[in-house]
Amino acid sequence: MPETIFASTWAFGELAVRTAWAWWDSEPDLERAAVAGTAAIEIDPTIPTVGRGGLPNRAGVMELDAAFMRGSDLCSGAVAALRRTLPAIDVAYKVALLTDHLLLAGQGADDFALAHGFTPQNLLTEQTRAQFADWRAKVQRGETDADRMVGHDTVGLLGWHHLAGGGTAGETVACVATSGLGYKRPGRVGDSPIVGAGLYADDHAGAVVCTGVGEEILRFALAARTVDAMARGLTPDEAGTEVMHAMIRRKPETAAMGISLLAVRADGEVGAATTRTANHVFEYHVCADGRYTRAVPEPVGAAG
Ligand code: ASP
Repeated sequence: MPETIFASTWAFGELAVRTAWAWWDSEPDLERAAVAGTAAIEIDPTIPTVGRGGLPNRAGVMELDAAFMRGSDLCSGAVAALRRTLPAIDVAYKVALLTDHLLLAGQGADDFALAHGFTPQNLLTEQTRAQFADWRAKVQRGETDADRMVGHDTVGLLGWHHLAGGGTAGETVACVATSGLGYKRPGRVGDSPIVGAGLYADDHAGAVVCTGVGEEILRFALAARTVDAMARGLTPDEAGTEVMHAMIRRKPETAAMGISLLAVRADGEVGAATTRTANHVFEYHVCADGRYTRAVPEPVGAAG
């Protein structure tokens, strides 16, 4: 079994785990490495769904969601609808370290960030500004429906490290960051900054991050349920599949919504589960002691 694992969602997860591993290699601090890996995706302007380069809300304003959770003591911090600064995961991590709260939203989150040394900035790029103008013109001409969901994916990053003298047990951390649904209503908050929905970490069972339509992930409390299933002894694949089946049984249309989760069990086993979509194939990346792999899980069907 490896000593240290990072796992992250989507194609950009490769950059996330490489950054986390590079950090770990020079300074073996699991949570700082996981935060750094997540922040790397936020600051990359070529990634169209997270941080800089992400899509704004329908008023043309960027609103970022992010969260951090540590599995040893359930310490967590999150920000929702952060408008003026990034990386949002760095602000969320500071909420975890410096406050007694779990979630700061809107103006309060921005004020907290500025009070802790983050620089106010306009988070839109030239390209996202142009895309927004284009989208708004199409809505005005009736060529697209403002409520149609576009352009969303979340960077979720899990860290696991073997605990010395702990048998197979390990410590876990989970981080998520996203600009949410493209052209969402102002103030819309997804699953990502909500403990139990977009992420969960408990060293007694494991850690989970989610991505996909946040309303469904919230409705089904996917991260908490998957951690619970691992606590019952299921593998991450089995736990994720069980939870997805339960979701699809209760709400069959979720089977085609491309909802995905990535999990690491307390013993370091990594797995994932995803539902189908027409055009979007979920993949994830793992770095185990510096060895990189990519996986594409088979979508979970309605059976089960
Ligand atoms: N879960 C994110 C949200 O709803 C989007 C995504 O991961 O695709 O904000």
